[in-house]
Amino acid sequence: MDHKTLLKKIKLSIQLMELHDENPFKIRSYQSALISLERSDQDIMGLSEAELAKISGVGKSMVEAIAQLKEIDTFPFLEELLTKTPEGILEVLQIKGLGPKKVKTLWEELGITSTHELMEACQAGKVAKIKGFGEKTQNTIIENLEFKASNAGKWLYADIEEMIWQLKETIQVIASATELAIVGDFARQMEIITEAEFLIASDELATVKSNIKAMESIAWILLESGPRTLRGKLKDIDLRVSIHFCSKEDFLWKKLSLIAAPLHLEALVDEKETVAKKLQKKDFSSDEEFFSVNKLQFIPAEMREGYGEVELAKENKIPELLTEKDLKGILHNHSTYSDGKHSLRQMAEYCKALGYEYLGISDHSKTAFYAGGLTEDQILKQHQEIDELNKELAPFRIFKGIESDILNDGKLDYEENVLASFDFIVASIHSVLSMDIKRATTRLITAIENPYTTILGHPTGRLLLRRPGYPIDHKAVIDACAANNVVIEINANPWRLDLDWRWIRYAMDQGVLLSINPDAHAMEGYADMKYGVLVGRKGGLTKEMTLNALTGTEMKAYLDARLEKIKAKK
Ligand SMILES: [Zn+2]
Ligand SMILES: [Zn+2]
Repeated sequence: MDHKTLLKKIKLSIQLMELHDENPFKIRSYQSALISLERSDQDIMGLSEAELAKISGVGKSMVEAIAQLKEIDTFPFLEELLTKTPEGILEVLQIKGLGPKKVKTLWEELGITSTHELMEACQAGKVAKIKGFGEKTQNTIIENLEFKASNAGKWLYADIEEMIWQLKETIQVIASATELAIVGDFARQMEIITEAEFLIASDELATVKSNIKAMESIAWILLESGPRTLRGKLKDIDLRVSIHFCSKEDFLWKKLSLIAAPLHLEALVDEKETVAKKLQKKDFSSDEEFFSVNKLQFIPAEMREGYGEVELAKENKIPELLTEKDLKGILHNHSTYSDGKHSLRQMAEYCKALGYEYLGISDHSKTAFYAGGLTEDQILKQHQEIDELNKELAPFRIFKGIESDILNDGKLDYEENVLASFDFIVASIHSVLSMDIKRATTRLITAIENPYTTILGHPTGRLLLRRPGYPIDHKAVIDACAANNVVIEINANPWRLDLDWRWIRYAMDQGVLLSINPDAHAMEGYADMKYGVLVGRKGGLTKEMTLNALTGTEMKAYLDARLEKIKAKK
């Protein structure tokens, strides 16, 4: 059990208490304990019972529950609740927009105890007729169920990477003395992973294969497997696994074939032959040599997608890609001034300790009241604190920013004199997300044309595997950024990774800078920068085109110059 899983179990117990109409005081006490535990910086797993009891809101029964969770992964009260709950209800509880109260109503009135039954009832129009539901809720439930079904077995790269590395280690041990490579989507650092794929080369394939077949963690699907590939599913989590086998001499070309996306393999290397054809010639003895014998510049694995990279390689135009080390500062972060978990000082000191030269703080703006958006007075207070911290922490610096909501009409959130008091502004949409493409594009472009907008934040608002985001005309938005000298964010949160990497090259070609922003709401959030770099590299991002590859001094000059320009225009 780890910290995160433990909190999940407590959350589940609260949902189930609501579902079963437990004592409201008990529910409230669990809720307040959960909130305190979530806000606390400490890893629960490392806390003694005495230390736990000191956290406000954490009562005696919660301390006991946590002790049992640590020891036996559950606690009696949770078990009791689970016994009363049909298994399928747990899945229904996961559906967005359906709280325990609504799930209870569906269960009581229509006898719904699974997502399958729920879908049928929605399609028959029965859910809309229940008091408090209606057509709109019913349609939302259908959409969410469909979205969920289409995402089954899919994982965020960040959520599954450890699992895949572990699996590789296990396979390495089982299939010893062989060559082993991770191939497929994961080898190309795709933002969403649907399968763990490996290639094994050995001269004793029969033995290796039977050892692999005996792996207990995988349920093999023999109908989908063949003499050269075993396909199956992990037993513990919903992830497909494929293991390909080949002889040692075939390893290199097979590996390159299995890492590449189909479109990359179909790309023409010369007038006659595709990448796939060239690979089959086996006239090379290393990855690098494959490219050089075919007169191609080396293409990094993450770029082998079939997005024009072969053409670029022919012309020697694959750029040197951005690395994590190139990033000199972190922009777009939240503190306790709005909805962040750590104070401005903590965010700054940790950023400095990690070796960065600057931090751009951009808490939410006033319209985002649900996220503690800042009033004009709070902004003044924050700016004073930043001035003091800047003296103390120099040469490290904090840039004064705000994540301004883009209002319904595309305007930014404050009067001009307030907007002018920031070093930079991230403009983002957080409300009224259901828009058609025309409206969303116009709303964004109006914000981009505001001279105070420095960075366009998470351009589509998507949450991978959770919601698709509003549709936008990417070209029009990027062109507007080019015309107005606005930087586009690559939001590095693994749920977002927005701007999508498929648009990075177009943006760079228009001269638009990108910024890798973690949108950190806690110090730990800085670690997400890694995922921004991964997708940035997929899109061919270079250091030169990355805003936060600027040093602290360069960044100050850059931001000052922008503000000067606005003043000069007036
Ligand atoms: Zn945001
Ligand atoms: Zn944010």
